[in-house]
Amino acid sequence: MRIFTGGIVTETNTFAPWPTGERGFAEGGMWHGDASASGETPQNLVARLYRDLAAGDGHDFTESLFAVAQPSGPTVQRVYEAMRDEILADIRQHGPFDVVLLLLHGAMVAAECDDCEADLVGRIRQIVGPSGAIGVELDPHCHLSQALLDKADAVILMKEYPHTDFLPQAEELYRLCVAKAAGELNPTSRLFDCRMVGFYPTTSQPMAGLVERMRAVERRPGVLSVSFAHGFPWGDTFDTGSKMLVITDNDPALASETAERLGREVYGLRAALAPRFPDIEAALDLAANASGRVVVADTADNAGGGAPGDNMALLLAMLRRGLQNAALGSIWDPIAARACADAGVGARLTLRLGGKCGTASGDPADLSVLVTAVRDPHDQAGLGDSRGAMGLAVWLRIDGIDVVVNSIRTQTFAPDAFTGLGIDLSDKRLIAVKSSHHFQGHFAPLADQVVHCATPGAIQMNFAEIPYVKRRDLNYFPRVADPLS
Ligand SMILES: [Zn+2]
Repeated sequence: MRIFTGGIVTETNTFAPWPTGERGFAEGGMWHGDASASGETPQNLVARLYRDLAAGDGHDFTESLFAVAQPSGPTVQRVYEAMRDEILADIRQHGPFDVVLLLLHGAMVAAECDDCEADLVGRIRQIVGPSGAIGVELDPHCHLSQALLDKADAVILMKEYPHTDFLPQAEELYRLCVAKAAGELNPTSRLFDCRMVGFYPTTSQPMAGLVERMRAVERRPGVLSVSFAHGFPWGDTFDTGSKMLVITDNDPALASETAERLGREVYGLRAALAPRFPDIEAALDLAANASGRVVVADTADNAGGGAPGDNMALLLAMLRRGLQNAALGSIWDPIAARACADAGVGARLTLRLGGKCGTASGDPADLSVLVTAVRDPHDQAGLGDSRGAMGLAVWLRIDGIDVVVNSIRTQTFAPDAFTGLGIDLSDKRLIAVKSSHHFQGHFAPLADQVVHCATPGAIQMNFAEIPYVKRRDLNYFPRVADPLS
């Protein structure tokens, strides 16, 4: 059997002010056929998994472009088309292929294309024909479209948020598509639209239980895969929203009824699932009154959802309270990081920090800082066993608070974003992180309590007020109390 793989990954915040362009992908990572050879990003790990599975099963393996960019605004059209056409050219040149396995995001929007995944897969289908098995792994924060399902043989999403299961889901996709190409299965997909826009961490109830039930349903005869598309609220497309996807072996009725039953289960939980986060002062009160170490999430300034990562509101509130034994990271400010690195360890300077990228950034802060460490390049643990680049990073002491400032825009995934610079987290009572939820994967073990804080910034959780123009309609929860009635 001949197997092909490639992937383009970015989650487009259509409300973000700046485009995703060549530099965004160059910084995030681009591998032209050699992603499996080195590196520790999810793209490297998935390419390596497919390479090793194919080798173990005695299949031919061809690897094309893998590309990833930190979320921001729509991808520049010619940048998307160049990446897409590189993958198509590789399929034409090295084909024919029995199996095509793609790692995509599912919420990628280009300047002239609202559904890049369906566009790419449709063009691949034209080349490989109806007999080739095309499998797509998506992030659950996708705009899962019928157009994509019509063109792919199997679409499988990560089930966990944080997305720690990207490798097992990739392996499931491999096995399903190889079996389809061998004529052993006929994957049949059906989608149920929950008519919801929401935020669904799977580290707590009720979502943790739902993930368990999805896995239990997958063990039933005839069911091949169950995926819940959380949706990406900050992408305005026709297909934005939460959906349940079920794949059966050649049984459309079973797929439909299973998707609807599980989808209505999520729908029944919609009130309990709606995020209710304390504001900054309430979150800091909670932390002050907690007995152990509290991790506070700056949920709205999460670069992983397309926010700048340079809003100063939470840090300023911590400074106003005179907090000691506290840390905050990471603020994306390449100019400040560079100035501090040039000043050198031990330098004390007045620094204009953050607040640089637009209204979501808020105002900058002028602060007296002590440069305590410099690391270039800095990195941190990411999802699962992956690692992610942080670029030039500095540890600043600002009154009693240890602050990380860095040059590559990224959310804060892991404690080594701090400890890799020498910051001791063992004596910290409050650790503030710029992340909506992925931080839970690595920070939960050292937190006595986690507080998701409703900060000002680009990733607001008031889903009823997101100004959708392109969404199919506005008949969704929480804008409408009972949209399925
Ligand atoms: Zn996601």
